[in-house]
Parts: sequence; C-alpha cells; structure tokens
Amino acid sequence: MMSPTRFPEFNTEQRYDMLIGDSWTQSTTGETFRCFDPYDDVEWGHVPLADIADVTRAVAAARAAFATWSQTPAYERAAILSRWGRAITDNVEALARTQVHENGKTIAEMRGASGALAATAEYFAQLALGPVGHVIEPAFPNHEAWTLRQPIGVVAAITPWNNPLGLLGWKLFPALAAGNTMVIKPSEVTPVSTLLLARLGLEAGLPAGVVNVVTGFGATGQALVDDPGIDKVAFTGSTATGAAIAQRVAPRFLRTTFELGGKGAQIVFADANLDLAVDSLVKGIVAGAGQACNAGSRLLVQAPIYDEVVALLRQRVADIRIGDPLDTASDIGPLASRPQYEKVTHYLDLAKDDGCELLVGGRRGPEIDGVGTGRFVEPTLYATPDSASRIRREEIFGPVGAVIRFEDAEDAVRIANESQYGLVAGLWTNDLSRAHRLSRRLESGVVWINTWRAFSNNVPFGGVKSSGLGREIGPDALLEYTETKSIWLGLH
Ligand code: NAD
Repeated sequence: MMSPTRFPEFNTEQRYDMLIGDSWTQSTTGETFRCFDPYDDVEWGHVPLADIADVTRAVAAARAAFATWSQTPAYERAAILSRWGRAITDNVEALARTQVHENGKTIAEMRGASGALAATAEYFAQLALGPVGHVIEPAFPNHEAWTLRQPIGVVAAITPWNNPLGLLGWKLFPALAAGNTMVIKPSEVTPVSTLLLARLGLEAGLPAGVVNVVTGFGATGQALVDDPGIDKVAFTGSTATGAAIAQRVAPRFLRTTFELGGKGAQIVFADANLDLAVDSLVKGIVAGAGQACNAGSRLLVQAPIYDEVVALLRQRVADIRIGDPLDTASDIGPLASRPQYEKVTHYLDLAKDDGCELLVGGRRGPEIDGVGTGRFVEPTLYATPDSASRIRREEIFGPVGAVIRFEDAEDAVRIANESQYGLVAGLWTNDLSRAHRLSRRLESGVVWINTWRAFSNNVPFGGVKSSGLGREIGPDALLEYTETKSIWLGLH
C-alpha cells in the first residue's frame, strides 16, 4: 500500500502514541484508528483511540502540572514558548507535509500556516511578559485596590481538521502564556500533526503534564468536555458541535471560547478595483478548496457590473489547477475526508433542485479529468437569486460559492446580514466613506475593506451570532485565559 514518493517521512504502518503527563502512551483499551491521505486514499498510521479512562488520566496530569506551571515565572514560560516557536520554524516542512497528508490542503498553504504558528508562539511569549492587572484608586480614602489576572486552570482545547495547528496555536500559546495547562483533543482527521507539535514542545523544555494530547473521535471530545476536572473549553469546529458543547457545560458555568462556522459575504461595488476584487472573490472561495471558516462563500456583486464580474469569474475559475496537494503547481487539492466530499457534492445536487443557475464548475470526482479517484470538487459558482436556497444560506465548507446580485448599499447590508453566521465580511469599493459606514453595519466579527483574509497575531479574530463567542489572538487574547481578581488594601 505504501507509496514511497508520497510518504518519505512516514511508514504507513507507524504506531503513534498520545501524550499524557510524562508518557507517550497507547490508549487503555489498546484500540487505535487510522488516518487517510485524502489525495490517494492511502490509510496510514495507527493512532490511539482514547476513552474516558485516558481522558481522566490526561486531565489529572494537567491538573497536577497546573500547580507548578501557574507559579512558574512568566519569563520562564515565555522562554519556553519562544524555544517552541523556533523548533516549529526548524520543522515547518515536516509539520506542513504531515498536515497535507492529513487534510489534503496544498503544501503552500500548510507551509504558510506552519510558519504563522511559529509567529503565534513568539507573539504570546512576548505577551506573557506584559502587566497582569491594574492599580485602581477606589471611591473612598485610606484604601487601595488592584486587579490581578490569574490563569483559569485546565483548558480543554478541541480542534478541527481544516487548519489543525494554526487554530490550535491560537488556543495553546495564550493559554500557556497565562499559566494554564491544557488537554488537547485534535480532530480525528488530523491527529498526527498535533502529536508532532506536542513533541516539539517537550523538546523545547515544556514540563510534563502542561500539555496533554488525547486522540479520538467526537466521543473522546465529549468525555473531555464532561470531565469535572476541566475549567475552560476552547473549541473550534462546526456550529452544531459548538452548540452541543455549550449545552453540556452551561450548568457548570465553564469558561468557553467558541470559533464556529461562517458564510462570509464579499461585497463588490461598481466603483471597486475590479481586478483586485475578482481575484479576491476567486481566492476567497477556492483557497483550501473552500474548507475555511473564513471562506468568502457569498459573492455579492452590484447590478451594473454583475455581468462583467460573472464573465471574469468564469475565466479565472476555469484557470484553477486541481491536483496533488504536494505538487506546488496545484491551486487546490481534494476535500479532506469522505464525509466532507459527500456533504459538498450533496450541495451540488441540492443546487439543481433549488433552481440555482450554474455559472461555472460543477464537476466532481471521476468527472474531472486527470485527477484520478481523489475526492475532488471543481470550484463551482451558482447564481442564487432566491434567499431561501440552501447554497446561499448554509455553510458548505467546500469550493462552492453563491453569487448574488444587489442594487445598492442598503440591499447589500440586508443580504449580508441575512445569514445566521457573522464571522467575516468584505467590502470592495473606492468610496471610503461608504466603506466606513458599512463596516459598522455589517454583523460580522471581522470586516476586510479592499483586502481579504488578512491575518496578524496582534489583530483579534472571532465571530458574532452563530459564528462563535469570544476572540482569539490580538492583544487581549490573554483575557480569554485568565480570571480577574480584585484585591483591596485598607491603609490604617
Ligand atoms: P466538528 O464540529 O465536526 O469537529 C470539531 C472537533 O470537535 C473535532 O475534534 C471533533 O472530534 C470534536 N467533536 C465532535 N463532536 C463532539 C462532541 N459531541 N463533543 C466534543 N467534541 C466533539 O468540525 P470539523 O468538521 O472538524 O471542522 C469544520 C467546522 O469548523 C466548520 O463548521 C468550520 O466553519 C469551523 N471552523 C471555524 C473556525 C473559526 O475560527 N471560526 C475555524 C476553522 C473551522
């Protein structure tokens, strides 16, 4: 089964251990599951299937480590995070290739994400050294008051497959910088890259138990969420799973951060720089084969330029190269898993039933020339005049975009805000006053004006409405991983 050219760094039969406390270990039951390379469907690796007993051990290890790690001077924590960041930089290629074998995204994208991960580690190493509270002059004399931000405790981090390490880093590094410890449950589609990252952490000097990784499916995640020893859940994944977790933890008043689904609207006005806007419309829905929470999956185009933009979109989308994600000539790879392929192709069928007009693309799997049997879906755009059509309303998480004509700014805001989601939105216009006005009215955690998918560790990211709760990265990210204590002193 093993293809030596595609698996230079793996033996497909390799057994991976998960990390609990100071030991790399199999699960208590000895059960395992396998990874799939979505490009050629090769099964690889044997990964432990953690059950409740393993989760209990991992949470206990994190709890034990918290006693010391929370008291470790911030300078020491920061030094370890910095070393970890450098180790990531030294291992970008291995981390990137592992993720490509797991989720089928292009090597360029996974190299970029792995490089960004190192920067996230370094950013939070710096933030760890900042102030941990304020001195406040109270309302009456002879008293002083100050606040102290303290770590919350044991954080359960549950992560998705679409950017496994990047999205983990947004939780892991601020949590550790603030003095918390962590149990990670990576996606069952992408467990090995997380194990590799944890190994680099230990090599960088991370004390045992500060980070633990339990591998498995949703049931392992649920066991973690239900464990009475955790103090916070940091979750990235689908809105449905997020809602299920929120319900389970609400009676315990656990602290939570939720990064959930999206249905990003890119709004192009007639006065926009069309070259840049069309390029961004295409990349917004094609990058990562559309498997991104920040995909621009609704393409809103103003009526006077609608026909021209559709013609340009047809041309540019037709030029997208589909292929082996390890080949740097490929713009997109396959969808990450069989269920994901089935979900996305189901939407192609629905579009026909919903009366959407196919503008470009529409082919899948064996219908696409030259890409073998992989789970590929062509970049596909539909005109979706009916606001009830599911292509326009639901998160597809594939390279499938809904093109929508609008008349004026009011119309654009109404359409953009009709979604249950509110993660990202984009405006393309040369009228700066309009851009400012509309950016305030869009119900979205992030608004990009004349750009798309711009990220920086010091700019917060997160959603409103069904797209989530809380913010990741940015200068205030440590607030999500600390509790404020107010301390009073009477001066007698
Ligand atoms: P998912 O919800 O299926 O799974 C996410 C994680 O939750 C996995 O580790 C899974 O094993 C675990 N899980 C599943 N059921 C669980 C349960 N009952 N209790 C605890 N854990 C459980 O999501 P996915 O398919 O892995 O990821 C895709 C989704 O993630 C999309 O909806 C996407 O929009 C969203 N996402 C959001 C962001 C963001 O920043 N807002 C970023 C990336 C992805």
